[in-house]
Amino acid sequence: MRQLIQAFIEVEEKIHSLLEEVQSLKPYVEALAEENIRLKHEVCSLPENVTEQVIANARHLQGIANENLEKLYQEGFHVCHLHFAQPLDDGDCLFCRGFLHR
Ligand SMILES: [Zn+2]
Repeated sequence: MRQLIQAFIEVEEKIHSLLEEVQSLKPYVEALAEENIRLKHEVCSLPENVTEQVIANARHLQGIANENLEKLYQEGFHVCHLHFAQPLDDGDCLFCRGFLHR
């Protein structure tokens, strides 16, 4: 009986310390939730010209990336996911072509 009581006391202590741990985490969770709301708000409130600039930059970079892949393929290397950067043995690859002209 004495052992049982001791075990109960230990479980109770563990539950207590877990509860304390959860409660100590609460402010962090709340702070993160607030930060998340603030960031969402910030993204939504970006001026339209900034948003357009970001989209234009992304398109520009995409264009450069495509050009580089095209060049790599012209120089005789795979740009497809299957054999990326390996030499084009047959001088042609359907997967590369499909990838470049999608
Ligand atoms: Zn290929």
